[in-house]
Amino acid sequence: MSTTITRQIVRIDEELCNGCGLCVSPCAEGAIVLVDGKARVVRDELCDGAGFCLGVCPTGALTLEMRDAVPFDHAAAEVIVAEKKTNYIAQHCYKCGTSEDDRPLLPVRTAGDSTWVCTRCLPALIHG
Ligand code: SF4
Repeated sequence: MSTTITRQIVRIDEELCNGCGLCVSPCAEGAIVLVDGKARVVRDELCDGAGFCLGVCPTGALTLEMRDAVPFDHAAAEVIVAEKKTNYIAQHCYKCGTSEDDRPLLPVRTAGDSTWVCTRCLPALIHG
């Protein structure tokens, strides 16, 4: 039986989750999968609690909580990350179309959509 610690980890509100799947790709460690039409953290040891998935959820179903869980397992996550890289699909900035291969992208919510914006277009969004 694994020892648990109290730590930050992603919480998914099943009532709010519409099963869109947008949170699956941003989770580099593969902790989130869709099960029966709902997002779930299937293996606590794969969730590092960083919360990069939170910004893409259109319904607010994703939050962070402090609770007892097994520690984040970096080695196990690296295996998942390596597997995901074989299915890598570059995302693009919704403003200028730049690929994440050329410039870092950040998740952004706009007009009801969850999408990506590059670091060159972000200042214009902030400052108008
Ligand atoms: S992004 Fe939100 S609504 Fe969509 S599957 Fe993930 S938790 Fe559910």
